[in-house]
Amino acid sequence: MPTRSDVRPDRSSTDVLWIDTGSVNCYLCRDPDGYTLIDAGMPGKADLIFGRLAEFGGQPSDLARIVITHADMDHAGSAAAVQARSGATVYAGQASAELLATGRSPRHMPAVVQFLMDRFVRYPAVARSHIRVIGEEDELPVLGGLRVLATPGHTLDHHALYSPSAGICFAGDALNTRDGRLQRTPPRISADQAAADRSAARLLALSPAVIACGHGAPLIDDPAAVTALWEQLRQQIGGGR
Ligand SMILES: [Zn+2]
Repeated sequence: MPTRSDVRPDRSSTDVLWIDTGSVNCYLCRDPDGYTLIDAGMPGKADLIFGRLAEFGGQPSDLARIVITHADMDHAGSAAAVQARSGATVYAGQASAELLATGRSPRHMPAVVQFLMDRFVRYPAVARSHIRVIGEEDELPVLGGLRVLATPGHTLDHHALYSPSAGICFAGDALNTRDGRLQRTPPRISADQAAADRSAARLLALSPAVIACGHGAPLIDDPAAVTALWEQLRQQIGGGR
């Protein structure tokens, strides 16, 4: 049975480790050629991440890739520190890559919060030479092939990742289980809610065995939860507004 920190979907021949950093989740994928970190947590989380990597059998130099779903500080804040200690390549969408290189967050928050963030909030920037841009139709050599899916809405440049062979979807903030319930990104922090609804529906349509969200525990083999949110989104997308 999966434990709180262990995500091992039955259909997976490789391992995925859930790292609960407190406010946001990161995930480690283990492959024969090295490890991949999905999202990097708030600034100051590098020691935690490398500690979990060690428990998972990896040295810092074994970390080959850091994939960032979107450039919000809680997902990208420790990317620079983890990159510097591991030498890993950082993968992100075009706009996210630019933000990572300047330590800035994307625009999608309520106006006052956004104003304060634009003015005062920076996280450690990743050197451009270590960043590679990814997008729709790209596939990373992780978990038997990790597809990059453009899932705009929460932020305009947001990517989820899906491994068909492992049956796992890394949803970033396109989906969450924050209150113990599978849900879409909240409208008050969505850059484009209609796009967010379409992106969420796209991920649900994959019927992943595991939905590994940025916030809340991973959802494991819970088709009823997927169907419930799917029905809600179908009405919203289908003109139920
Ligand atoms: Zn976010």
